[in-house]
Amino acid sequence: MPYPTPRRTTTGYGTCDACDRRVLYALTTKHRKIIAIDPAPDPTGNQAVSVKDATYWTRQLSTDRPVPEEREILRRPHHATCPAARARTGVRPAPWRQR
Ligand SMILES: [Zn+2]
Repeated sequence: MPYPTPRRTTTGYGTCDACDRRVLYALTTKHRKIIAIDPAPDPTGNQAVSVKDATYWTRQLSTDRPVPEEREILRRPHHATCPAARARTGVRPAPWRQR
């Protein structure tokens, strides 16, 4: 890749501001806020990501809609695995997994 991927300009693939990893920026269906998602699908994730009109949307699984629905793919929020976020907060998030 000769040029760096644009950062948080829109939704889609980008780079985490904190750790420079590749992430997927998606809008939350609830608050229309852009959050970073780990790009790799993960069946243990709690974010159901779908694409609509070239925009990535993410819905956090809830008790009334606990499973991914049509065209949704489960992924994990990036803040759960971001090493920079962990260093900053001192909070230990979900277990780290080597890729
Ligand atoms: Zn990060």
